[in-house]
Amino acid sequence: MARLNVSTPPAIVVLGAGALDTARRIRARFPGSRVHGLAGRVSTEIAYEDFGAHLRDLHAAGTPIVALCSAGIVIRALAALLADPLLADKRAEPPVLAVAQDGSAVVPLLGGMTGVNVLAREIGAALDIAPAITTSGELRFGLCLLAPPDGYALADIERGKRFVSDLLAGETTRIEGRAPWLDDAALPRADDARLAVRITPLAANDEDSLVIHPRCVLAWIGDATPGDDIAERVRVALREQGLAPLALAALAAPVHHMSSESLADAARALDVPLRFCDTAPFDAGHAQDVSLQVRDAPIDVQSIGRARGTLTVIGLGPGSADLMTPAARRALAAAQDVLGYETYVRMAGPFRDDQRIHMTDNREELQRARHAFDLASDGRRVVVVSSGDPGVFAMAAAVLEALDEGRASHPAWSAVKLSIVPGVSASLATAARAGAPLGHDFCVLSLSDNLKPWSIIEKRIAHAGEADLVMAFYNPLSKARPWQFDRAIDIVRRHRDAATPVVLGRDIGRPGETLRVVTLGELKSEYVDMRTMVIVGSTTTRAVGDWVYTPRWYEPD
Ligand code: SAH
Repeated sequence: MARLNVSTPPAIVVLGAGALDTARRIRARFPGSRVHGLAGRVSTEIAYEDFGAHLRDLHAAGTPIVALCSAGIVIRALAALLADPLLADKRAEPPVLAVAQDGSAVVPLLGGMTGVNVLAREIGAALDIAPAITTSGELRFGLCLLAPPDGYALADIERGKRFVSDLLAGETTRIEGRAPWLDDAALPRADDARLAVRITPLAANDEDSLVIHPRCVLAWIGDATPGDDIAERVRVALREQGLAPLALAALAAPVHHMSSESLADAARALDVPLRFCDTAPFDAGHAQDVSLQVRDAPIDVQSIGRARGTLTVIGLGPGSADLMTPAARRALAAAQDVLGYETYVRMAGPFRDDQRIHMTDNREELQRARHAFDLASDGRRVVVVSSGDPGVFAMAAAVLEALDEGRASHPAWSAVKLSIVPGVSASLATAARAGAPLGHDFCVLSLSDNLKPWSIIEKRIAHAGEADLVMAFYNPLSKARPWQFDRAIDIVRRHRDAATPVVLGRDIGRPGETLRVVTLGELKSEYVDMRTMVIVGSTTTRAVGDWVYTPRWYEPD
């Protein structure tokens, strides 16, 4: 079962401009939260097309939802999803609330186990109203006994529900162990009660108790042989000491095992964070075994060594939010540090207060890549952004160049978990707007001679012309390279007649986007700049109405 991150900022979803005032008041209370609005109706940080589908996506991703509309609309939108037995796991269900547009009512709907009432109270405080809390246990005791705070885990939800029913029916309870959050709760306490709330790391099988495990056990894995079932070794060690698996706070291992897949698999299987330390964080006895340390309070995992850093190179697509892949969006949401050229970093925002932004000049790619590795080697989750696709004249190659050149002097860089997330490249976005000019064989060339000799560029254009490839030109022209574009087109003209269609896409997917189709005969360097994508057709590329396409076939010789 996925553990829900209760500190995920909520998505504040509005249908129209009438709700914006209330949305902003709620947003101010939750750092990192964003307002989502219906595209075309209201302008917000995140636009959605279909309310129901958007709500279901948010719910499936475990994002807390604050919907500024009637409770009925929210219920209808989520009904099908909630009827699915696979999703019926209450503990993983994110909080869902309906809030009246004018801020006059807050109705917690779903997520009793994941803090919906806590959220409702906070929103109530922000709007200066009393939340419509309907959970009887919560009303009677002032908190949800089944939703302990971070650092604690409820042992058994079904037993927990029976326990709360018993208390509501008039039983009393003792408290065994340290439960500071219950100090102010209005629980019917009695020292001689039959029932007990028990706070213990020990596995308990006790009908008369509400058992809550503090996450206070640390497992040190001194040895991580590939293929070894570490999770099972940890489970056995816990069992031998009578400890509950839910009391496990984290796995810790020596730094030299940072790239171990078996360790990562084990942490995933046990659903706990994985930390790396230079030396064992406690006297671990035989380093070859799994050693457990039981502390007397929940463990602050951040204080144990460091995480394996990640470096994710993402492509944002050409500009508009709807052409960014969900994988890139997820990487951005998880990022602690975001690096990139200023324009692209701004395109990737807005960011939360806890995210660090490092903007650099466009030409400092290698330096940016080294900086990214340094941050990731410190255990941070780092994202490097490119426009379009990161592998097309962009940061992915720069990151690998930096690794190639720096791995000997920076061994920690090789332990970083590196991944590259593709994006919609400008040639593909431009082609789609124009029709299908890349419908048959094509090539992609950068006309910039900053990093390669101009003679290579001329040679490639000549060969592409001869091979009858459609050509997509990136970086067609800049102030520092004034004559190159005309030279390039001269070479193309030797192989194509003047009627060949040429597609010019400027700022595709960005505000002020323009698309223009001219013939090769008409093409002039004044029509292009650094923000333009140039697609020159082959001998078969043609127009149909306003569309340009390259057929999938050739006439037989
Ligand atoms: N990685 C990027 C390309 C970077 S090179 C990608 O995959 O799209 C930069 C060049 O890409 C620009 O000079 C321009 O030719 C082209 N380009 C990038 N974004 C564009 C856009 N939104 N519209 C048109 N051309 C674009």
